[in-house]
Amino acid sequence: MMNIADNIAKIRSDMALAAKKSGRVLSEIKLMGVTKYHPVEMMTEAAPHLDLIGENKVQEAVNKRAVWPVGMASCPWHMIGHLQRNKIRRALESFDLIESIDSLETAVGINRVISEGGPRRFPVYIEVNMSREAAKSGVAPEEAERLLEGMMTDCPLLSVEGLMTVALDTEDECVLREIFGGLRELREKLRCATGLPLPELSMGMSGDFMTAIEEGSTIVRVGSAIFGPRNYG
Ligand SMILES: *Cc1c(COP(=O)(O)O)cnc(C)c1O
Repeated sequence: MMNIADNIAKIRSDMALAAKKSGRVLSEIKLMGVTKYHPVEMMTEAAPHLDLIGENKVQEAVNKRAVWPVGMASCPWHMIGHLQRNKIRRALESFDLIESIDSLETAVGINRVISEGGPRRFPVYIEVNMSREAAKSGVAPEEAERLLEGMMTDCPLLSVEGLMTVALDTEDECVLREIFGGLRELREKLRCATGLPLPELSMGMSGDFMTAIEEGSTIVRVGSAIFGPRNYG
């Protein structure tokens, strides 16, 4: 029988191992539960043990937030899937942060909607397609600096706080280290170019989060290792 709290405890202890191995401070690494295709009942069970909730689709997040039990603990919700421009307004109503910015047009669209609501800033990350897979969203690594500088100029209400990537689906440690280490190095380059601190590196999923932590991840996004396989039916 699967127990969500036990699964999370196991992941937290693996996170501690990876942090220790790489000489990192465990409290600087957050655990996101990725809850796409899983019901709200499983989410409310997990939420007290998580730092963040991650959803891929705007509509699914809207539906789930609408039935979230009143008074039930939650944690910040991050959007981690591709954001279509016609869903920006609803995304901003359901998410506390968007990790998947990969175009200036989308960023400008978000900035415009935010500007209608008074002077608040909205936090985002840039998604980078480190593995260069055609089917994947995210900006190419060599385009990231131009996107970030465009956002600093055109999106004054957006606060770019980090980078996100989805690694290649592989168990090859060397390939994974190249991807995760590559995102960390890209962050250094962008820090130098812009002066932004970019504290967050969102990288690592169920199969590769320990490697990601060893390479500098500050947010691991774990779905199936917490909630079991997704039912796409
Ligand atoms: C689904 C998803 C995850 C979680 O994947 P698991 O392998 O189930 O841990 C993490 N990040 C993104 C962007 C996802 O779409």
